[in-house]
Amino acid sequence: MINLTESVENLNRIGQATAKKLSRLGIETVADLLFHIPFRYEDFSKIYHVAGLNFGLPATICGKVEIISNRRSFLKRKIITEAVVADKTGSIKAIWFNQPYLVKNIFPGDQVRLSGIVRSDNYNLIFINPVYEKAGNKIHTGRIVPVYPLTAGLSQKQLRFLIYFALKNINFSEWLPEDIRKRNKLPFLAEAVKKIHFPADIFQTKTAVKRLKFDELFLFILRAILDEKELQNERSSAVKINSEKIKELVGSLPFSLTADQKKSVWEILRDMEKKEPMNRLLNGDVGSGKTVVCALAAFNAFSAGRQAVLMAPTEILARQHFENLKRMLEKSEINLSLITRSEKKTTISGKVTKTAAAGLILNGKVNFIIGTHALIQEDLVFKNLALVIVDEQHRFGVRQRKILRDKGKKGELLPHFLSLTATPIPRTLALTVFKNLKISQIKTLPPGRQPVLTKFVPESLRQKTYRFIENEIRQGRQAFIICPLIDPSDKLGAKAAEEEFKKIKNEIFPALNVGLLHGKLRPKQKTEVMADFAVNKISILISTSVIEVGVDIPNATVMVIENADRFGLAQLHQFRGRVGREKNRSYCFLFSETDSDRTRERLKFLEQCSDGFSLAEKDLELRGPGEIYGGLQSGFENGMKFADFFDYDLIIAARKEAEAVAEKSPDLKKYPRLRDKLKIMADNVHYE
Ligand code: ADP
Ligand code: MG
Repeated sequence: MINLTESVENLNRIGQATAKKLSRLGIETVADLLFHIPFRYEDFSKIYHVAGLNFGLPATICGKVEIISNRRSFLKRKIITEAVVADKTGSIKAIWFNQPYLVKNIFPGDQVRLSGIVRSDNYNLIFINPVYEKAGNKIHTGRIVPVYPLTAGLSQKQLRFLIYFALKNINFSEWLPEDIRKRNKLPFLAEAVKKIHFPADIFQTKTAVKRLKFDELFLFILRAILDEKELQNERSSAVKINSEKIKELVGSLPFSLTADQKKSVWEILRDMEKKEPMNRLLNGDVGSGKTVVCALAAFNAFSAGRQAVLMAPTEILARQHFENLKRMLEKSEINLSLITRSEKKTTISGKVTKTAAAGLILNGKVNFIIGTHALIQEDLVFKNLALVIVDEQHRFGVRQRKILRDKGKKGELLPHFLSLTATPIPRTLALTVFKNLKISQIKTLPPGRQPVLTKFVPESLRQKTYRFIENEIRQGRQAFIICPLIDPSDKLGAKAAEEEFKKIKNEIFPALNVGLLHGKLRPKQKTEVMADFAVNKISILISTSVIEVGVDIPNATVMVIENADRFGLAQLHQFRGRVGREKNRSYCFLFSETDSDRTRERLKFLEQCSDGFSLAEKDLELRGPGEIYGGLQSGFENGMKFADFFDYDLIIAARKEAEAVAEKSPDLKKYPRLRDKLKIMADNVHYE
């Protein structure tokens, strides 16, 4: 028997080479392996007689190998393996390309099963590259077969076998209390995991997914409730509001605050004035002006002689925050510092060494520190932190947030805490997930901004649209092109973006400067590309969907989104928010592979709606039950793999159970397994 935390290397038959390939898919432990979920299934469950096969359909046959041999192809380049397999109703030819070793695995006389789509060679039906298996086994054929995200050098069969093997030898410990499981009609975890890989019928995957979603939501909400409870026992020091100075700074800004901004600032300052630690979410669309609210909150801490810190999920975002905040706070005495792994600087002395930066932070010369998770990795000590701001906090582990917060702990006093998100979360939903969290919303955008003209473009107008973009660029403007992840193994989007890049650069705009941004680039390369784009050395930036949504390029007026049907409305809206930052007319063009009524309805809705909150609600409404957009692309990225904030009924159910548990046993002493489970989760970090 093996257990979940074991390294996959300990699994039978895994060599170092395979382990390395698995690690490219993010699979290190047995748990990672078992939670490597198929992205689709192939239904080869029906076993046919050879005489009953139909062209073009998936089928499995079971028969005896009559002959099998290798030959070279006509052009002598490929080795082709040919076999004839017969059952009592007839025989069929199967051919495989470049798998000469097959003749060492399959011999005439063997009973085998073949699964594949039935093809034809003009005369007869044949199988091309069918999946084969000795008739005794039933892992790869004769069933509903899982199809996984892969990486180079790893085959479906290898991975499927490993998962099958692991499932056979694992002892799942069920951590969900039995009454909760029963009340919510959920399968055992072991059963759910088995069925998501090897379902007997496709409906079984539905109950399996329900269990996995419930687990995530339940744990997420329980964690939130326990955190809230914990905070109730904590104290902070009150930060006095310095109205004079705040007013003075607000007066020095090049614009006047919107009503929502004023209200948000006020809510935050009032919270910070209390002795209970603030735990507030600032929620406002891309471009709604959250940064200035942070600036004022940090400035308020500074006026009271204290420090503030802001942690962002990527270097690009941290740098952008630093630059923007620096500008907004220019007229004040506050000193800022940027801390990322590759760069440290301060507004006092420019680029500095790590030690120098740490010194300035420790002695309080620097008042507002902005950075990435380098803030917690490097041994920084703050002098007197009063405010911790975390941007897009779902991108950090619970533990990372705690570490940052605890760094500000002075004696028994905790700093105040503010998190930011540009994902418009409908209030009702937010309140269901986090009951006691306070929320400040910025609903209206700063004045003077024209809505981005949004168009769902049919393929027939693609070339015309490119000419339009070219014209914009001729006038000195810039464009983004976003391409989604299509191949699930292409986690960082490198492949998708590179293909688009080649097409755009070579075929569409050979005369223009085109740049490329994807998750496989090193931080330094990313920075360079962004810097070039920022100064208009690059006119068109091709980017994956996972890369920074937060970047700010006021001169960009065109946003093109390929395969827009693959994104939720909220996410599309976020991309669109990258343009229209200035007074120039801006455009968002949506292309889509599919043109179904549903796609059209969704994309047309986006054409006429520019309010992120309504879009989020519409997403909820239009979404089919149980539909998964898939983590990142839903726009509700939240660190969960299966569930998201759209699973409303499950959220309600999970909330109810989590509340009951927290009520009955706040320290989880009565639920030791659950407690362990939460502990493991908290230790899980997801670095950039
Ligand atoms: P986000 O909420 O996405 O972080 P930002 O804080 O980056 O938005 O603000 C977007 C842009 O709007 C910035 O260029 C900022 O200077 C500007 N801005 C913010 N508030 C106002 C306002 N009240 N009036 C005019 N412009 C504003
Ligand atoms: Mg921002």
